[in-house]
Amino acid sequence: MIRILIVCLLLSSTAVAQHKDSVMVRRIIEEATGNSQLKKLGQELMDGIGPRLVGTPEMQQAHDWAVAKYGTWGITARNEKWGEWRGWQRGATHIDMIHPRVKSLEGTQLAWSPGTKGKVVTGDVVILADVADSIAFQQWLPSVKGKFVLISMNQPTGRPDYNWDEFGTKESIEKMKKERSEITDAWTKRISKTGYNARTLPVALENAGAAGVIICNWSRGFGVNKIFGANTKKVPTLDLSLEDYGLLYRLIENGVAPKLSVRSDSKELGVVPTYNTVAEIKGTEKPNEYVMLSAHFDSWDGGTGATDNGTGTLVMMEAMRILKLVYPNPKRTILVGHWGSEEQGLNGSRAFVEDHPEIVPNIQALFNQDNGTGRVVNISGQGFLHAYDYIGRWLSRVPNKYKQELETRFPGAPGGGGSDYASFVAAGVPAFSLSSLGWSYGNYTWHTNRDTYDKIVFDDVQNNAILTAILIYMACEDENKTSRERIVLPVNQRTGEPGKWPAQTKPTRRGGLD
Ligand SMILES: [Zn+2]
Repeated sequence: MIRILIVCLLLSSTAVAQHKDSVMVRRIIEEATGNSQLKKLGQELMDGIGPRLVGTPEMQQAHDWAVAKYGTWGITARNEKWGEWRGWQRGATHIDMIHPRVKSLEGTQLAWSPGTKGKVVTGDVVILADVADSIAFQQWLPSVKGKFVLISMNQPTGRPDYNWDEFGTKESIEKMKKERSEITDAWTKRISKTGYNARTLPVALENAGAAGVIICNWSRGFGVNKIFGANTKKVPTLDLSLEDYGLLYRLIENGVAPKLSVRSDSKELGVVPTYNTVAEIKGTEKPNEYVMLSAHFDSWDGGTGATDNGTGTLVMMEAMRILKLVYPNPKRTILVGHWGSEEQGLNGSRAFVEDHPEIVPNIQALFNQDNGTGRVVNISGQGFLHAYDYIGRWLSRVPNKYKQELETRFPGAPGGGGSDYASFVAAGVPAFSLSSLGWSYGNYTWHTNRDTYDKIVFDDVQNNAILTAILIYMACEDENKTSRERIVLPVNQRTGEPGKWPAQTKPTRRGGLD
């Protein structure tokens, strides 16, 4: 009799918990779908503030915007200083061809590029010479004085491979690929024969008096280039679209020296502090245990960092907003980290791990998102032996609609340096990556000049905000603290050494200041 009563009580308490969960899940979905703030947040961040390169005033503006935004939702937020960086601000770049005809060219200066100091600089364009060796190169170098130098290979086609595969003949595709790989090899040799590498060559050119260095870092899609940092210290490094780079290159090859007019503005701002934005909803029963949301806040600045990592940022902010509304008194403390300087080596998150020994050992779980705008389709257990139990339990409360294509890998293997979750995995924290569907991320938006608001797929981002909010709620409510037990990694077949877990890596706390 007594036993039956206990079973009944147990059953009913499980039933009560399940009912509570389904009410909570329903309220999360209602708020996410009926009152989504994603487009507004996306517009303010990507269009209003723009790209978020570490050390720029726009990065700082974004941190301040996030703190203020959390404030309007009644969520406590702060900017935590973790380092210092070279302060720099991008200005306008105007690149015009003025001979043999007039055409405005599509291009921009690289990040941290020096400008033209308020002047318009004109000069001929030359191609990096194909010399016999480094001695011949030193003899050629003085001829670049006052000229713009093209230092990238000329792509034989501006069409992406998928376009060739759709319309080309077998022969024409093979021919193009062979030609491209020959040109690529020859160009690698051309650079190495100078005695310099991709990093030191631009400096040698500017020291020889070049007016500027021009590259074309094509991203293998229609009209898309990757925009990274400049190595020059005195003259601008410019990236031109494949179309315009090819135009200049062919003119020179055919005996016409094109002339450019360039004005490129940028400001040096000295040493500036760098931050992470951290926001929290205090736990009521176990305030010293933490469930974390995580996404890097910084970006490269060729576009506006919309999918890298504006969308991850939006997912975490929207999930926090919804949780504060429907679950204001969580059992454990909910923390979100919007990291600075992921792009230069996970610096913000690594610094947080170092700076918070009071938090890191007490993190129940962390979810990071950082590979584009798509629906989350993959979660790996990162080598945590019991991840299957708890993630499986938490996911079981997510309605099918929001996890239709989701695949899980348990126990999985510890991820390398991919993104900020790795900083936590290395410290033994059950930290997971919410891995997204591609949407042509690698070629079209990742670190490119086309990573802008229009590429955001809001339905998918909304899906991810719902999924994340439910996982965070479930992780907060879980009766048990998660196990940190790790799998034994297999022996490395090549070295015969036992498999090693990734070690904690020091962040770079002062960057770009050499
Ligand atoms: Zn990223």
